[in-house]
Amino acid sequence: TLVSLPQRYRLERRGSTSGTMNAVKMVVLGASGVGKSALTVRYLTRRFIGEYHPTLENTYRSKTTIDDEEFSMEILDTAGLENNIFRDGHTSWGEAFMFVYSITDRSSFEQVKQIWTDLKSQKSPQIVAALLVGNKNDLKHYRQVPTNDGDKLAEFMGCQFYEVSALDGQQIPLVAELFRNLVRELRNKKLETAR
Ligand code: GDP
Ligand code: MG
Repeated sequence: TLVSLPQRYRLERRGSTSGTMNAVKMVVLGASGVGKSALTVRYLTRRFIGEYHPTLENTYRSKTTIDDEEFSMEILDTAGLENNIFRDGHTSWGEAFMFVYSITDRSSFEQVKQIWTDLKSQKSPQIVAALLVGNKNDLKHYRQVPTNDGDKLAEFMGCQFYEVSALDGQQIPLVAELFRNLVRELRNKKLETAR
């Protein structure tokens, strides 16, 4: 069964927050089926939704407090962007990018590299915050991407790297950490460039 999120999480329109320090425009990118929606929904609701509509694209609103500072986030959970991440202006809209692959799917890892390269060609990496996520680490027997490869890619991208599972209930705090650390990363980048 396909489940939709409660309406209160949804935003009617993207781009409603201004470019102030505490507004964060986050984009979740990656191949289809890697768990972008599962991670986003896990973060927002703490629930795991097993079958989320693969072509559904949504923007959600969420607040978080980091170091006593409140941030209002807009999270864009993308869909079907394999061929062109620039479609619909996602990349020009976003400031913080979560790159997701599945540790069970080598091609999804290669796709992250491609998306990163494309993004870098469009945006200055100095003002873009990124974070790399290898999802589905509960499926260790099906692993196709060694942890070390993720580490190396993250080093190349100059960002943090996590292996997680959206499915594993024990990792709910870790999933929250992903989103919050990306916000923190963006805040630090903005502070650096403001200096
Ligand atoms: P998206 O296309 O990137 O948004 O991927 P979805 O969030 O729709 O997930 C695709 C499929 O992978 C669904 O069947 C999910 O139940 C499953 N899935 C997502 N995250 C995990 C995970 O961490 N572990 C496992 N075992 N399955 C997952
Ligand atoms: Mg999805």
